[in-house]
Order: sequence, then structure tokens, then C-alpha cells
Amino acid sequence: MTLSLKNASKTYPDGTRALLPSDLVIETGEIVSLLGPSGCGKTTLLRIIAGLEKPDEGTEVWFGSDNVTRLPVEKRNVGMVFQSYALFPNMSVRTNIAYGLKMQKRPRAEIDQRVEEVLTLCRLTPLANRAVTALSGGQRQRVALARAFAPRPRLLLLDEPLSALDAALRDSLRDELSDLLRRFGITAIFVTHDQNEAMAIADRVAVMSDGRIEQIGSPENLYRNAGSPFVARFVGNAMRLGKVEQGRTLSLEGGQLSLPDDGTGRAVYVRAEDVCIADDGQLSGRVESVTFLGTHYRIGLSGVTGTLLFSLHPGASAPKPGERVKLRIAPEALMLLTEDTAHP
Ligand code: ATP
Repeated sequence: MTLSLKNASKTYPDGTRALLPSDLVIETGEIVSLLGPSGCGKTTLLRIIAGLEKPDEGTEVWFGSDNVTRLPVEKRNVGMVFQSYALFPNMSVRTNIAYGLKMQKRPRAEIDQRVEEVLTLCRLTPLANRAVTALSGGQRQRVALARAFAPRPRLLLLDEPLSALDAALRDSLRDELSDLLRRFGITAIFVTHDQNEAMAIADRVAVMSDGRIEQIGSPENLYRNAGSPFVARFVGNAMRLGKVEQGRTLSLEGGQLSLPDDGTGRAVYVRAEDVCIADDGQLSGRVESVTFLGTHYRIGLSGVTGTLLFSLHPGASAPKPGERVKLRIAPEALMLLTEDTAHP
């Protein structure tokens, strides 16, 4: 089912403009992530889609060819999974999963068949008769997902479903979730403030800031073609090198950089993975910090820009604090972006 939002906006009674008029179209089977810092309006947008929040006048929410803007939540047939599992504690895994189907008054045989199917797909069969109170956090969250999948909702809304889990569990459940969503072919919207999670799960990521969808695109597209400093920073942690006075050269404390294009008046950003320590580099700097991160070192450098610049160094050894090093940045790794005074 295609989801279309037209002019969706929300002003809370206290005057907070949580969502400015926004349009969004999500195709059938697509997984879209809403990514942004705390308070940017992700949950508000999700709640408008679910029917849990009354949007401002002028908002239209379409599920396929149905205008559902005024339809109450229980009539929208959307599945929801939240950070807190919200399972029924006194029921078994199986009964929790069957709950939505029973509410829909499905025939007994169909309920049994669907529950078995979802138990298998979510790898919960061995736990089917356990009370949910006897499960780990990760297992509970899998049950919550299974319960949401079982009634085959036309749309699945997930609000930070993994954020209560510890890091290792989060990573494995993240991959499992991505796989499950695709196998079920469910159209899904996934709220997160974690860029890695958004990029790992979603077909497209909508980056939000201050109640607006700043940019939407595939993870690769956002990473390679960030349209604003905010997106460049939020997706892949781009660092600001400086502002171009004129032409195709950026003058920095540590040297001069050739730009891929005329950058007059624009700011130049780069990611730490594109700052390479190399003897033939055009810039020079002083090593301030060295952090070993397993696959690479993270090196903090002073004297290149006004602030500390980071380099991700994949070598088997790293320079020591205090050493002077040369740095090379390929022109195509530089992002020339227009700074917006309202959203610097
Ligand atoms: P988080 O990641 O912290 O959950 P979010 O991006 O989901 O944040 P929202 O919860 O949608 O953001 O909130 C957007 C803005 O609306 C925030 O400034 C928030 O304080 C405000 N807000 C949310 N709910 C209400 C409410 N009931 N009344 C007034 N303001 C609200």
C-alpha cells in the first residue's frame, strides 16, 4: 500500500510547531526511516500516520486511494511497535502473538496457522509456550514484532524499537528486523535517531530537523550527495573545514586545498574516512590524540582547521601524539555546501 502525506503539520495546544507542512510518499513494500535528533518531530509524524495525533487543518493522510485523515486509529489497520515492548505479561508468547488476530475475530484455524507461521519466521517456536516475563529483552522485542506482523497490517510503524536493547543485541536484531520486514513485504516506517540503524534497515531515509524533512533518499544517496551541512553532519559525521572566499581553492591554517568545483561563498565539508595520512599530502597538521578502534585508528589533528580535525587511519600502526603529519584529501571527497543561516 502506498502511503501519501500531503501538507502534514502539527501545532500542539501550547503553540509548539512540532511538524511544519511536509509531504511524503512511501511506496508499497518500502521501508523508510525517519532519522533526526531528539525533538525534531519524528514521533509526531509517526503518530499522525497512525491516527494517534490529530494533525493541523490542511493535512491529508492517504493509504492507497483511501483518505484516512479522519479515520480513528483502530480503523487504520496499522501495526505498531514501540521502544517498550507493551506485551501482555500474564500471557504466553503464543497468546500475545494471537491477540491481534483474535481482536479481528478471525476463524480459529486461521489464527493457529498464522501464529505458527510468524513463530517460525521470527524464530520463536521453541519459546512459544513461555510466559513473556520469562524472556530476555531481545526475545521480548522479537515477540512484539511478531505480534505486530501477525495480523498482516497494511503498514507497520516502528518507534525506536531497538533502543532499549544493549549494543550487541541491537545489532543482531537490527539485521533480523531488516530481513523480516523484507520477507513479509510490509510497508514500514521506522523512527530512529541512530544513523547506522537507519542506514542498515531502510530503503530510503528521511532526515528531519526542526519539524521539517530536510532531505530524503537512499542511504548511499544521502551519504554521497548530502544537500545541506545538517545532513552531511548527521549522516556520516561530516566535519566543516572552512568557507571558500573565492574560486576553486580553500585556504586553511594547514595549507591549501583544490576544490572539485567553484566554491565561492560555500562551506567545505569532509568525512574523517576521507582524511588520509600520506607523505604526499597537501595539508599538514599535528597529532593530538590517537584512539585505537580495532579496524582503524581515530586520529585528532590540530593546526589544519580552526578546530580539531579527525582522520580514520586504517594502517597497522599510527603516528604518535605530538608528531607532525601530512594529510591528503581527494578533491571528490570534498562537499561544497550552502550554509543556511536558520539551520547552520
Ligand atoms: P525524540 O527522538 O526525543 O522522541 P522526536 O523527534 O520524536 O523526539 P517529537 O516527540 O515528535 O520529537 O516532538 C517534537 C516537538 O514537539 C518537541 O519540541 C516536543 O517537545 C514537542 N512536543 C511533543 N509532544 C508534545 C505535546 N504533547 N505538547 C507540546 N509539545 C509537544
